[in-house]
Amino acid sequence: MKKLMAANWKMYKTWDEAKSTAEELVKLTAAKLPDDREVLVFPSFTALRGVAQALAWQAGFSAGGQDYYIEEEGAFTGEISPKMLKDAGAAYGLTGHSERRHILGEDDEYIGQKTAYGLASGLKVVLCVGEKIEDRKNDMVEDVLERQIRMGLKNVPTDIAPDRLSIAYEPVWAIGTGEVAGPEEISAAHGFVRKILFSIFGDNANEMRILYGGSVKPDNCAEIIALDNVDGVLVGGASLEGESFSKIVLA
Ligand code: PEP
Repeated sequence: MKKLMAANWKMYKTWDEAKSTAEELVKLTAAKLPDDREVLVFPSFTALRGVAQALAWQAGFSAGGQDYYIEEEGAFTGEISPKMLKDAGAAYGLTGHSERRHILGEDDEYIGQKTAYGLASGLKVVLCVGEKIEDRKNDMVEDVLERQIRMGLKNVPTDIAPDRLSIAYEPVWAIGTGEVAGPEEISAAHGFVRKILFSIFGDNANEMRILYGGSVKPDNCAEIIALDNVDGVLVGGASLEGESFSKIVLA
């Protein structure tokens, strides 16, 4: 299984900035990309086509949409569909990111609809899950993860090709804070995620990637991706500069 090294550029970068960062990333990593790595960038919608074009000629690189609505088209002002993302060059969609859950108010039910709809529309999907600090303090990590995963995957066919679905474990308290979950916390959470996936998808769960996200940096990535059940990373802040993200990709 290839490790998936994913960048989430959130609401940063204009078309020109995004395209030149993507080009720099290709320049710094393409020739050295190990066979067991894949690179994925989630730029803003307006930069998606430019980034997808910059990555397209290189095997092992792809682009994705940070969000989408659960219809193909229609009177849904401000929304974007998987069909439009694919038309702009996206192979992936992202669902359940903590900023969409906790700032934009998306609930488990809607995230589940989105995950299933993106897959049915031909996107590969990365579903993010993760507990808040108070959940951890109250010993609720497994309860939160199990609820978010089961609701998030409720309508996903159990025979889905395993390379089309990934889970990103992103403890909310580690996102954009500089605070990284420790190796034991990451291993425990990822082992638990694998167990839940196994209960839903059987042996195919072994081929689904579980990414870690939360203040991944060039100097901590190698240690994190070496842990059991860590099949890649989802990186925010440290993915915004080509040089920094290239070190993570090649860590
Ligand atoms: C993220 O936004 O998914 C993320 C993990 O951000 P950061 O790497 O900045 O913590």
